[in-house]
Amino acid sequence: MTVSGLPPYDDTNIFARILRGEIPCRKVFENEWALAFHDIAPQAPIHVLVIPKGKYCSFADFSAKGSEAEIAGFFRAAGEVARDLGLEDPGYRVLANMGDHGGQEVPHFHLHLFGGRSLGRMVPAG
Ligand code: AMP
Repeated sequence: MTVSGLPPYDDTNIFARILRGEIPCRKVFENEWALAFHDIAPQAPIHVLVIPKGKYCSFADFSAKGSEAEIAGFFRAAGEVARDLGLEDPGYRVLANMGDHGGQEVPHFHLHLFGGRSLGRMVPAG
């Protein structure tokens, strides 16, 4: 099943390849539900991506089709990553780009965690 209006999952996307170990990443965390690694083009002193282990192409896809266990496991993992990186105090930003207007480039759902400096009210438009 695909979520209405969304493309099917593309197994060749770069994060799928990272999950399969075909491409290296600078891993910071991994458990049953999630993998977290440093963004290759960081936009803050700390810029980490957290991705679910399952094949979900976007936030829309994950929130609609993910099981309770996957969703809970993933979001708890993301919080743990931020905590482990020491971001809780003084704070950080969580962001998910979704689809064309959201500027999503990689079609595997991911959260961006930004931190390490004051980020202002919003991420500037690129
Ligand atoms: P988005 O625009 O939300 O899809 O974000 C995709 C992010 O993935 C961008 O911030 C890229 O810099 C990042 N990215 C792309 N390829 C890699 C890679 N091989 N390793 C780590 N981050 C990557």
